[in-house]
Amino acid sequence: MIKQISGFQPTGNLHLGNLLGAIRPLVEAQATADSIAMIVDLHALTMEHDPAAVRANTLEVATLLLAAGVDPRRTAIIANSQVPEHTELHYLLECTTGFGEAARMIQFKEKSAGGGPVRLSLLTYPVLMAADILVHGADHVPVGEDQSQHLELARTIAIRFNARYGETFTVPEGIRPESAARIMDLSDPTRKMSKSAPSAAGRIGLLDPPETIRRAISRAVTDTAGVVRHDPEHQPGVTNLLEILVACTGEKPGGFSSYGALKREVADVVVALLEPIRARYRELDPGYVRETLAEGRTRVRPAALATVRRARAAIGLCL
Ligand code: ATP
Ligand code: MG
Repeated sequence: MIKQISGFQPTGNLHLGNLLGAIRPLVEAQATADSIAMIVDLHALTMEHDPAAVRANTLEVATLLLAAGVDPRRTAIIANSQVPEHTELHYLLECTTGFGEAARMIQFKEKSAGGGPVRLSLLTYPVLMAADILVHGADHVPVGEDQSQHLELARTIAIRFNARYGETFTVPEGIRPESAARIMDLSDPTRKMSKSAPSAAGRIGLLDPPETIRRAISRAVTDTAGVVRHDPEHQPGVTNLLEILVACTGEKPGGFSSYGALKREVADVVVALLEPIRARYRELDPGYVRETLAEGRTRVRPAALATVRRARAAIGLCL
């Protein structure tokens, strides 16, 4: 069976883009793939962070994954900090990666450009991400464009390690699931909806109450053309609303006489999609969520340990 791993950063509240672009495809893949849903809490430490917030967000993401239909009997839900083989392999992979390879990463350049203090882990975290993937022997990794350079690095590291020290890792492949939508920010439809965007105005949080969702959609930026048309270049805001509609309903949208009518329809379908997720979220017991993480960790560790032992032996360490 194909092994697949999907990552979520516990950097803030999950949004509609995370659901339609990542969680729903993961839920659909559960029938055919051996999946791991990984909360990358270690990645959240690469930037200035609040310890209590990282812990709370990690549990929130785990709870939301469960509420959105990730079935822990089929998909192991883990936090990468709780599986120590990730960090052990990270070090071994650092010993096979060039400084220049890490420094070239666009995200490192962007996130370190602000002039503030830069954590060393921000430079090395793409190597940790390689370890996150390789340690589980994942065949497929669903990734958005923002992560494709990091996935390429993971492949380079795996191929080089295998060539130099002997066949050790499965070389992962980045995939773009057919059902994965890409949702843009409502207030700036040229940028993707993102947890870390400076303003929350263009974001629909998965736990937002219906009034907040309706307000955000009614304020979504459109244009002055006055015609509801799918035209990403000239009408990115309207196009985004149409794409949200398609992603939520799975149907081609009908005609709309005005932007107001389109927005009301989008608000109705988004509220209807998120309402049951919010309800299940409230019902889930925090103790059960912690148990699920502990169970996920127990399930994935034997294979992760085997990978690390192979890597240790190959690179010249005693077992
Ligand atoms: P951050 O701003 O902290 O990077 P994010 O919103 O990009 O947060 P991630 O945790 O990085 O969220 O990504 C989790 C998953 O959601 C990834 O598979 C990513 O490709 C997907 N994803 C993120 N934003 C969107 C979006 N706007 N549309 C579709 N998929 C998205
Ligand atoms: Mg991201």
